[in-house]
Amino acid sequence: MKNIDTFDFTNKKVIIRVDFNVPLNDNFEITDDTRIKAAIPTIKKVLSSGGSVILMSHLGRPKNGPENKFSLQHLIPELSKQIGVDVQFANNCIGEQAVEKAANLKAGDVLLLENLRFYKEETKGDEAFAEKLSKLADVYINDAFGTAHRAHASTAIIANFFPENKMFGYVMSNELININKVIKEGKKPITAILGGAKVSGKIEIINNLIDKVDNIIIGGGMMFTFIKALGGNIGNSLVEDDLLDTAKSAMEKAEENNVCFHIPTDAVIADKFDNNASTKFCNSYEIPDGYMGLDIGPETGQAFKDLIEASETILWNGPMGVFEMDSFAQGTIEVAHAIADATKKGAFSLIGGGDSVAAINKFNLQNEVSYVSTGGGAMLEFIEGKTLPGVAAVEK
Ligand code: AMP
Repeated sequence: MKNIDTFDFTNKKVIIRVDFNVPLNDNFEITDDTRIKAAIPTIKKVLSSGGSVILMSHLGRPKNGPENKFSLQHLIPELSKQIGVDVQFANNCIGEQAVEKAANLKAGDVLLLENLRFYKEETKGDEAFAEKLSKLADVYINDAFGTAHRAHASTAIIANFFPENKMFGYVMSNELININKVIKEGKKPITAILGGAKVSGKIEIINNLIDKVDNIIIGGGMMFTFIKALGGNIGNSLVEDDLLDTAKSAMEKAEENNVCFHIPTDAVIADKFDNNASTKFCNSYEIPDGYMGLDIGPETGQAFKDLIEASETILWNGPMGVFEMDSFAQGTIEVAHAIADATKKGAFSLIGGGDSVAAINKFNLQNEVSYVSTGGGAMLEFIEGKTLPGVAAVEK
Protein backbone atom coordinates (compact mmCIF):
# COMPACT_ATOMS: atom_id res chain seq x y z
CA MET A 1 0.00 0.00 0.00
CA LYS A 2 1.26 3.49 -0.87
CA ASN A 3 2.04 6.02 1.85
CA ILE A 4 1.19 9.71 1.69
CA ASP A 5 4.50 10.64 3.33
CA THR A 6 6.68 8.94 0.72
CA PHE A 7 4.57 9.17 -2.45
CA ASP A 8 5.80 11.49 -5.20
CA PHE A 9 2.88 13.82 -5.95
CA THR A 10 4.79 15.97 -8.47
CA ASN A 11 2.32 17.13 -11.14
CA LYS A 12 -0.21 14.53 -10.05
CA LYS A 13 -3.93 15.26 -9.80
CA VAL A 14 -5.09 13.81 -6.50
CA ILE A 15 -8.75 13.17 -5.73
CA ILE A 16 -9.33 13.14 -1.96
CA ARG A 17 -12.51 11.79 -0.34
CA VAL A 18 -12.89 14.10 2.65
CA ASP A 19 -15.63 14.32 5.24
CA PHE A 20 -16.97 17.86 4.85
CA ASN A 21 -20.35 16.98 6.30
CA VAL A 22 -20.27 20.08 8.51
CA PRO A 23 -23.19 21.80 10.27
CA LEU A 24 -24.37 25.04 8.59
CA ASN A 25 -26.64 27.73 10.06
CA ASP A 26 -29.51 29.47 8.22
CA ASN A 27 -27.03 31.81 6.54
CA PHE A 28 -25.02 28.80 5.34
CA GLU A 29 -22.16 29.63 7.69
CA ILE A 30 -20.18 26.75 9.17
CA THR A 31 -20.98 26.41 12.89
CA ASP A 32 -18.36 23.73 13.65
CA ASP A 33 -15.29 23.47 11.41
CA THR A 34 -13.70 20.46 13.13
CA ARG A 35 -14.00 18.28 10.02
CA ILE A 36 -12.54 20.93 7.73
CA LYS A 37 -9.62 21.51 10.09
CA ALA A 38 -9.01 17.77 10.27
CA ALA A 39 -8.66 17.48 6.48
CA ILE A 40 -6.16 20.33 6.05
CA PRO A 41 -2.90 18.39 6.78
CA THR A 42 -3.62 15.86 4.01
CA ILE A 43 -4.55 18.58 1.51
CA LYS A 44 -1.47 20.66 2.34
CA LYS A 45 0.79 17.63 2.13
CA VAL A 46 -0.28 16.95 -1.48
CA LEU A 47 0.03 20.62 -2.44
CA SER A 48 3.44 21.07 -0.87
CA SER A 49 4.68 17.92 -2.63
CA GLY A 50 3.87 19.31 -6.08
CA GLY A 51 0.38 17.94 -6.69
CA SER A 52 -3.05 19.46 -7.28
CA VAL A 53 -6.10 18.51 -5.26
CA ILE A 54 -9.68 17.57 -6.17
CA LEU A 55 -11.88 17.41 -3.07
CA MET A 56 -15.07 15.34 -2.94
CA SER A 57 -17.50 14.92 -0.07
CA HIS A 58 -21.11 14.54 0.90
CA LEU A 59 -23.03 17.14 2.90
CA GLY A 60 -26.27 16.30 4.66
CA ARG A 61 -28.82 13.91 3.25
CA PRO A 62 -30.23 15.31 0.02
CA LYS A 63 -33.19 13.20 -1.09
CA ASN A 64 -33.79 14.03 -4.74
CA GLY A 65 -30.85 15.65 -6.45
CA PRO A 66 -29.39 19.13 -6.00
CA GLU A 67 -30.64 21.41 -3.19
CA ASN A 68 -28.98 24.71 -2.34
CA LYS A 69 -28.93 24.02 1.39
CA PHE A 70 -26.75 20.97 0.77
CA SER A 71 -24.39 22.65 -1.71
CA LEU A 72 -20.71 22.39 -0.88
CA GLN A 73 -20.30 25.80 -2.49
CA HIS A 74 -21.07 27.29 0.95
CA LEU A 75 -17.76 25.95 2.22
CA ILE A 76 -15.54 27.74 -0.29
CA PRO A 77 -14.66 30.91 1.71
CA GLU A 78 -13.67 28.98 4.86
CA LEU A 79 -11.89 26.30 2.90
CA SER A 80 -9.90 28.85 0.86
CA LYS A 81 -8.93 30.60 4.11
CA GLN A 82 -7.81 27.42 5.85
CA ILE A 83 -5.86 26.01 2.88
CA GLY A 84 -4.46 29.41 1.87
CA VAL A 85 -5.45 28.88 -1.79
CA ASP A 86 -8.46 30.21 -3.76
CA VAL A 87 -10.49 27.03 -4.04
CA GLN A 88 -12.20 26.46 -7.40
CA PHE A 89 -15.64 24.85 -7.61
CA ALA A 90 -17.33 22.46 -10.03
CA ASN A 91 -21.12 22.71 -9.78
CA ASN A 92 -21.49 19.02 -10.51
CA CYS A 93 -19.23 16.26 -9.21
CA ILE A 94 -19.20 14.52 -12.58
CA GLY A 95 -19.89 15.90 -16.08
CA GLU A 96 -18.42 18.54 -18.33
CA GLN A 97 -17.52 21.23 -15.81
CA ALA A 98 -15.82 18.83 -13.42
CA VAL A 99 -13.87 17.21 -16.26
CA GLU A 100 -12.77 20.55 -17.70
CA LYS A 101 -11.78 22.13 -14.40
CA ALA A 102 -9.95 19.01 -13.26
CA ALA A 103 -8.06 18.84 -16.57
CA ASN A 104 -6.90 22.43 -16.19
CA LEU A 105 -5.56 22.07 -12.65
CA LYS A 106 -1.93 23.06 -12.13
CA ALA A 107 0.32 22.05 -9.27
CA GLY A 108 -0.86 23.87 -6.12
CA ASP A 109 -4.49 24.28 -7.33
CA VAL A 110 -7.52 23.01 -5.42
CA LEU A 111 -10.90 22.09 -6.93
CA LEU A 112 -13.94 21.27 -4.81
CA LEU A 113 -16.62 19.09 -6.42
CA GLU A 114 -20.33 19.56 -5.70
CA ASN A 115 -22.03 17.23 -3.19
CA LEU A 116 -21.60 13.59 -4.18
CA ARG A 117 -25.00 12.68 -2.74
CA PHE A 118 -26.82 14.75 -5.34
CA TYR A 119 -26.45 11.47 -7.21
CA LYS A 120 -28.13 8.35 -5.80
CA GLU A 121 -25.31 6.41 -7.43
CA GLU A 122 -22.99 7.56 -4.64
CA THR A 123 -24.66 5.71 -1.78
CA LYS A 124 -25.54 2.80 -4.06
CA GLY A 125 -21.85 2.27 -4.70
CA ASP A 126 -22.42 2.52 -8.45
CA GLU A 127 -19.41 1.44 -10.42
CA ALA A 128 -19.95 3.64 -13.51
CA PHE A 129 -20.33 6.70 -11.27
CA ALA A 130 -17.17 5.78 -9.34
CA GLU A 131 -15.33 5.35 -12.63
CA LYS A 132 -16.37 8.83 -13.79
CA LEU A 133 -15.02 10.31 -10.56
CA SER A 134 -11.82 8.32 -10.91
CA LYS A 135 -11.20 9.66 -14.43
CA LEU A 136 -10.68 13.15 -12.95
CA ALA A 137 -7.44 12.21 -11.19
CA ASP A 138 -4.22 10.16 -11.16
CA VAL A 139 -4.23 9.32 -7.46
CA TYR A 140 -6.94 8.50 -4.89
CA ILE A 141 -6.73 9.32 -1.20
CA ASN A 142 -9.41 8.27 1.27
CA ASP A 143 -9.39 10.60 4.26
CA ALA A 144 -13.01 10.22 5.38
CA PHE A 145 -12.94 7.84 8.32
CA GLY A 146 -16.49 8.82 9.29
CA THR A 147 -17.86 7.11 6.15
CA ALA A 148 -15.33 4.25 5.98
CA HIS A 149 -18.00 1.77 7.10
CA ARG A 150 -20.02 2.49 3.95
CA ALA A 151 -19.33 0.86 0.58
CA HIS A 152 -20.19 4.02 -1.32
CA ALA A 153 -18.85 4.95 -4.76
CA SER A 154 -16.42 7.57 -3.42
CA THR A 155 -15.40 5.75 -0.23
CA ALA A 156 -14.72 2.26 -1.56
CA ILE A 157 -15.68 1.45 -5.16
CA ILE A 158 -13.53 4.22 -6.69
CA ALA A 159 -10.40 2.65 -5.18
CA ASN A 160 -10.67 -0.21 -7.70
CA PHE A 161 -9.82 2.27 -10.46
CA PHE A 162 -6.52 3.17 -8.80
CA PRO A 163 -4.91 -0.26 -8.38
CA GLU A 164 -1.49 1.30 -7.77
CA ASN A 165 -2.09 4.89 -6.72
CA LYS A 166 -4.37 4.77 -3.68
CA MET A 167 -3.65 5.51 -0.05
CA PHE A 168 -5.02 6.80 3.25
CA GLY A 169 -4.86 10.45 4.28
CA TYR A 170 -3.82 11.52 7.76
CA VAL A 171 -7.32 11.54 9.31
CA MET A 172 -7.86 7.96 8.24
CA SER A 173 -4.45 6.65 9.26
CA ASN A 174 -4.54 8.43 12.65
CA GLU A 175 -7.90 6.88 13.46
CA LEU A 176 -6.72 3.39 12.51
CA ILE A 177 -3.43 3.75 14.38
CA ASN A 178 -5.14 4.97 17.56
CA ILE A 179 -7.95 2.42 17.58
CA ASN A 180 -5.40 -0.33 16.97
CA LYS A 181 -3.41 0.95 19.95
CA VAL A 182 -6.30 -0.37 22.02
CA ILE A 183 -7.61 -3.40 20.21
CA LYS A 184 -4.39 -4.80 18.74
CA GLU A 185 -1.48 -3.41 20.71
CA GLY A 186 -3.02 -2.35 24.04
CA LYS A 187 -0.74 -2.56 27.08
CA LYS A 188 -2.32 -4.53 29.91
CA PRO A 189 -4.38 -4.06 31.97
CA ILE A 190 -6.84 -2.94 29.31
CA THR A 191 -10.18 -1.59 30.48
CA ALA A 192 -13.17 -1.00 28.22
CA ILE A 193 -15.86 1.27 29.64
CA LEU A 194 -19.17 0.83 27.90
CA GLY A 195 -22.25 2.86 28.68
CA GLY A 196 -25.13 4.50 26.89
CA ALA A 197 -28.75 3.66 26.54
CA LYS A 198 -29.02 0.18 25.14
CA VAL A 199 -27.30 -3.20 25.15
CA SER A 200 -28.46 -3.76 21.57
CA GLY A 201 -26.15 -1.01 20.31
CA LYS A 202 -23.14 -2.33 22.21
CA ILE A 203 -23.41 -6.10 22.39
CA GLU A 204 -21.27 -6.74 19.32
CA ILE A 205 -18.56 -4.53 20.77
CA ILE A 206 -18.75 -6.32 24.10
CA ASN A 207 -18.52 -9.72 22.40
CA ASN A 208 -15.58 -8.66 20.25
CA LEU A 209 -13.69 -7.16 23.20
CA ILE A 210 -14.05 -10.17 25.46
CA ASP A 211 -10.86 -11.84 24.25
CA LYS A 212 -8.93 -8.56 23.99
CA VAL A 213 -9.37 -6.72 27.28
CA ASP A 214 -8.96 -7.43 31.00
CA ASN A 215 -11.89 -5.44 32.36
CA ILE A 216 -15.27 -4.53 30.95
CA ILE A 217 -17.05 -1.79 32.87
CA ILE A 218 -20.76 -1.50 32.22
CA GLY A 219 -22.71 1.68 32.93
CA GLY A 220 -25.59 3.72 31.53
CA GLY A 221 -29.09 2.45 30.82
CA MET A 222 -27.76 -0.85 29.55
CA MET A 223 -26.52 -1.90 32.99
CA PHE A 224 -30.09 -2.73 33.99
CA THR A 225 -30.43 -5.48 31.39
CA PHE A 226 -27.32 -7.10 32.91
CA ILE A 227 -28.63 -6.60 36.46
CA LYS A 228 -32.01 -8.08 35.58
CA ALA A 229 -30.26 -11.01 33.88
CA LEU A 230 -28.47 -11.60 37.19
CA GLY A 231 -31.80 -11.66 39.06
CA GLY A 232 -31.84 -8.07 40.38
CA ASN A 233 -34.90 -5.85 40.76
CA ILE A 234 -34.58 -2.87 38.49
CA GLY A 235 -37.89 -1.07 39.10
CA ASN A 236 -38.84 1.02 36.09
CA SER A 237 -35.32 1.30 34.69
CA LEU A 238 -34.58 0.95 30.99
CA VAL A 239 -34.38 -2.72 30.04
CA GLU A 240 -34.27 -4.88 26.94
CA ASP A 241 -36.04 -8.04 28.01
CA ASP A 242 -35.29 -9.78 24.73
CA LEU A 243 -31.58 -9.46 25.45
CA LEU A 244 -31.46 -10.99 28.94
CA ASP A 245 -30.01 -14.25 27.61
CA THR A 246 -27.57 -12.38 25.38
CA ALA A 247 -26.38 -10.37 28.38
CA LYS A 248 -26.02 -13.55 30.41
CA SER A 249 -23.98 -15.33 27.77
CA ALA A 250 -21.70 -12.30 27.36
CA MET A 251 -20.98 -12.47 31.10
CA GLU A 252 -20.37 -16.22 30.90
CA LYS A 253 -18.06 -15.82 27.92
CA ALA A 254 -16.16 -13.14 29.85
CA GLU A 255 -15.72 -15.48 32.80
CA GLU A 256 -14.40 -18.26 30.55
CA ASN A 257 -11.85 -15.77 29.18
CA ASN A 258 -10.85 -14.44 32.61
CA VAL A 259 -12.23 -11.04 31.75
CA CYS A 260 -13.75 -9.20 34.71
CA PHE A 261 -17.20 -7.82 34.11
CA HIS A 262 -17.90 -4.87 36.39
CA ILE A 263 -21.59 -4.17 36.90
CA PRO A 264 -22.57 -1.17 39.08
CA THR A 265 -23.47 -2.08 42.65
CA ASP A 266 -25.39 1.13 43.35
CA ALA A 267 -27.35 3.65 41.31
CA VAL A 268 -28.92 7.07 41.45
CA ILE A 269 -32.63 6.39 41.17
CA ALA A 270 -35.41 8.86 40.34
CA ASP A 271 -39.21 8.83 40.37
CA LYS A 272 -39.31 10.30 36.87
CA PHE A 273 -37.07 11.00 33.85
CA ASP A 274 -36.54 14.62 34.82
CA ASN A 275 -33.67 16.72 36.14
CA ASN A 276 -35.96 17.88 38.97
CA ALA A 277 -37.14 14.40 39.91
CA SER A 278 -36.90 13.25 43.49
CA THR A 279 -33.71 11.13 43.66
CA LYS A 280 -31.87 8.83 46.05
CA PHE A 281 -28.99 6.34 46.07
CA CYS A 282 -29.94 2.69 46.05
CA ASN A 283 -28.44 -0.78 45.74
CA SER A 284 -28.67 -1.35 41.99
CA TYR A 285 -30.10 -4.85 42.49
CA GLU A 286 -32.93 -3.57 44.73
CA ILE A 287 -34.57 -0.72 42.87
CA PRO A 288 -38.17 -0.30 44.03
CA ASP A 289 -41.08 -0.17 41.59
CA GLY A 290 -41.89 3.38 40.55
CA TYR A 291 -38.18 4.31 40.43
CA MET A 292 -35.69 4.19 37.57
CA GLY A 293 -31.90 4.14 37.67
CA LEU A 294 -30.47 7.14 35.82
CA ASP A 295 -26.82 7.14 36.92
CA ILE A 296 -24.28 4.97 38.70
CA GLY A 297 -24.04 5.56 42.46
CA PRO A 298 -21.07 6.85 44.55
CA GLU A 299 -19.80 3.40 45.60
CA THR A 300 -19.70 2.32 41.95
CA GLY A 301 -18.12 5.64 40.93
CA GLN A 302 -15.26 5.06 43.38
CA ALA A 303 -14.79 1.43 42.31
CA PHE A 304 -14.71 2.39 38.60
CA LYS A 305 -12.28 5.25 39.35
CA ASP A 306 -9.86 2.82 41.08
CA LEU A 307 -10.07 0.36 38.19
CA ILE A 308 -9.54 3.03 35.56
CA GLU A 309 -6.59 4.55 37.37
CA ALA A 310 -4.94 1.11 37.59
CA SER A 311 -5.28 0.59 33.80
CA GLU A 312 -2.62 1.09 31.14
CA THR A 313 -5.06 1.18 28.22
CA ILE A 314 -8.59 2.58 28.34
CA LEU A 315 -11.40 2.62 25.81
CA TRP A 316 -14.51 4.62 26.63
CA ASN A 317 -17.75 4.48 24.71
CA GLY A 318 -21.05 5.67 26.16
CA PRO A 319 -22.01 7.70 29.26
CA MET A 320 -22.58 6.20 32.71
CA GLY A 321 -25.91 7.94 33.14
CA VAL A 322 -28.18 10.58 31.69
CA PHE A 323 -25.31 13.07 31.73
CA GLU A 324 -27.28 15.68 29.79
CA MET A 325 -29.18 16.33 33.07
CA ASP A 326 -27.01 17.66 35.91
CA SER A 327 -28.76 15.44 38.48
CA PHE A 328 -27.53 12.33 36.66
CA ALA A 329 -24.15 13.51 35.34
CA GLN A 330 -21.94 12.72 38.33
CA GLY A 331 -21.01 9.15 37.34
CA THR A 332 -20.00 10.23 33.84
CA ILE A 333 -18.01 13.17 35.27
CA GLU A 334 -16.13 10.86 37.66
CA VAL A 335 -15.28 8.38 34.92
CA ALA A 336 -14.13 11.19 32.59
CA HIS A 337 -11.86 12.62 35.29
CA ALA A 338 -10.49 9.19 36.19
CA ILE A 339 -9.59 8.65 32.51
CA ALA A 340 -7.86 12.05 32.39
CA ASP A 341 -5.92 11.20 35.60
CA ALA A 342 -4.88 7.79 34.28
CA THR A 343 -3.72 9.43 31.05
CA LYS A 344 -1.63 11.91 33.02
CA LYS A 345 0.06 8.93 34.70
CA GLY A 346 0.93 7.41 31.31
CA ALA A 347 -2.06 5.31 30.27
CA PHE A 348 -3.31 5.40 26.66
CA SER A 349 -6.95 6.49 26.49
CA LEU A 350 -9.28 6.43 23.51
CA ILE A 351 -12.68 8.08 23.62
CA GLY A 352 -15.13 7.29 20.85
CA GLY A 353 -18.77 7.24 19.93
CA GLY A 354 -21.01 10.29 19.78
CA ASP A 355 -22.15 10.63 23.37
CA SER A 356 -18.84 10.00 25.14
CA VAL A 357 -17.23 12.55 22.82
CA ALA A 358 -20.04 15.00 23.70
CA ALA A 359 -19.48 14.23 27.40
CA ILE A 360 -15.70 14.70 27.32
CA ASN A 361 -16.18 18.01 25.48
CA LYS A 362 -18.89 19.11 27.92
CA PHE A 363 -16.50 18.54 30.85
CA ASN A 364 -13.68 20.20 28.88
CA LEU A 365 -11.35 17.22 29.19
CA GLN A 366 -10.86 16.61 25.45
CA ASN A 367 -7.20 17.64 25.63
CA GLU A 368 -6.48 15.47 28.66
CA VAL A 369 -7.10 12.12 26.99
CA SER A 370 -4.85 10.45 24.42
CA TYR A 371 -7.19 10.39 21.44
CA VAL A 372 -10.77 11.39 20.70
CA SER A 373 -12.09 9.46 17.71
CA THR A 374 -14.24 11.38 15.23
CA GLY A 375 -15.36 8.15 13.63
CA GLY A 376 -18.76 7.56 15.22
CA GLY A 377 -20.37 4.57 13.49
CA ALA A 378 -17.16 3.69 11.64
CA MET A 379 -15.22 3.53 14.88
CA LEU A 380 -17.86 1.33 16.52
CA GLU A 381 -17.88 -1.08 13.58
CA PHE A 382 -14.09 -1.26 13.62
CA ILE A 383 -14.14 -2.13 17.33
CA GLU A 384 -16.86 -4.69 16.64
CA GLY A 385 -14.25 -6.42 14.49
CA LYS A 386 -15.97 -5.69 11.18
CA THR A 387 -14.07 -4.99 7.99
CA LEU A 388 -14.64 -1.39 6.93
CA PRO A 389 -15.18 -1.23 3.14
CA GLY A 390 -13.37 2.13 2.92
CA VAL A 391 -10.32 0.66 4.64
CA ALA A 392 -10.35 -2.67 2.82
CA ALA A 393 -10.64 -1.02 -0.62
CA VAL A 394 -7.44 0.95 -0.10
CA GLU A 395 -5.53 -1.87 1.61
CA LYS A 396 -6.32 -4.47 -1.06
P1 AMP B 1 -25.92 5.64 23.29
O1 AMP B 1 -26.25 6.50 22.11
O2 AMP B 1 -26.46 4.26 23.23
O3 AMP B 1 -24.45 5.69 23.64
O4 AMP B 1 -26.73 6.27 24.51
C1 AMP B 1 -26.45 7.54 25.02
C2 AMP B 1 -27.65 8.01 25.79
O5 AMP B 1 -27.92 7.10 26.84
C3 AMP B 1 -27.47 9.36 26.43
O6 AMP B 1 -28.32 10.27 25.80
C4 AMP B 1 -27.88 9.13 27.88
O7 AMP B 1 -28.74 10.12 28.37
C5 AMP B 1 -28.62 7.80 27.83
N1 AMP B 1 -28.57 7.11 29.11
C6 AMP B 1 -27.49 6.88 29.89
N2 AMP B 1 -27.83 6.26 31.02
C7 AMP B 1 -29.16 6.08 30.98
C8 AMP B 1 -30.11 5.51 31.90
N3 AMP B 1 -29.72 4.98 33.06
N4 AMP B 1 -31.39 5.50 31.52
C9 AMP B 1 -31.79 6.02 30.34
N5 AMP B 1 -30.95 6.58 29.45
C10 AMP B 1 -29.64 6.61 29.76
